[in-house]
Amino acid sequence: MIGQHESVSGAHFAFTDRWGGVSAAPYEELNLGGAVGDAPEAVRGNRELAAESLGLDPARVVWMNQVHGADVAVVDEPWGDRPVPEVDAIVTARRGLALAVLTADCVPVLLADPVAGVAAAVHAGRPGLVQGVVPAAVRAMTELGAEPARIVARTGPAVCGRCYEVPEAMRAEVAAVEPAAHAETSWGTPAVDVSAGVHAQLDRLGVCDRAQAPVCTLESDDHFSYRRDRTTGRLAGYVWLD
Ligand SMILES: [Zn+2]
Repeated sequence: MIGQHESVSGAHFAFTDRWGGVSAAPYEELNLGGAVGDAPEAVRGNRELAAESLGLDPARVVWMNQVHGADVAVVDEPWGDRPVPEVDAIVTARRGLALAVLTADCVPVLLADPVAGVAAAVHAGRPGLVQGVVPAAVRAMTELGAEPARIVARTGPAVCGRCYEVPEAMRAEVAAVEPAAHAETSWGTPAVDVSAGVHAQLDRLGVCDRAQAPVCTLESDDHFSYRRDRTTGRLAGYVWLD
């Protein structure tokens, strides 16, 4: 259910695994993604179960319509009846409002400045890394009073650099923007390490309190992996402030 839950000075960071939900194969069990072909009532039930286990009101969890871009939305309440915007980062200065990001191999990035009371959830795949969605989210946080030196950053389960094979030209294109993402698969072919790239971007911005989940989604039977299974569920990362 909740694979990892950490609290730092009133900021909460949680990442789910694939177990403990009600979805049937191939989305078993805790699929939290609403756009992957799973039954809507199963997703709704899973979101309630996950929120409950975190002590959150499911109606106070804000989700995104993720599109592999670099746009950021600032939110201070749930979307309600409004359309969910197509963004890959959401930022809030509202304590108690939880922000959620969906992934299955991409990097879920959770950020919080507990002093300023500003949090962000970011979806960073290879396109987001190249477009700078994480720096864009940090900029939006600083506009709301956060300071990079106070930001706590946690990245969740994602496909690792030894598994994420790409064509040579694609690796070169990513490495031209972010050299730290240059990687090689365990079988010796070109690869991209998105998590390493994200952490390098955060480091350059002055975000020092960083940690990376040790899990590779593609190698883990306890996590959804799009690269491995194609039709599968989505994991979620949640961040909120007391
Ligand atoms: Zn791996």
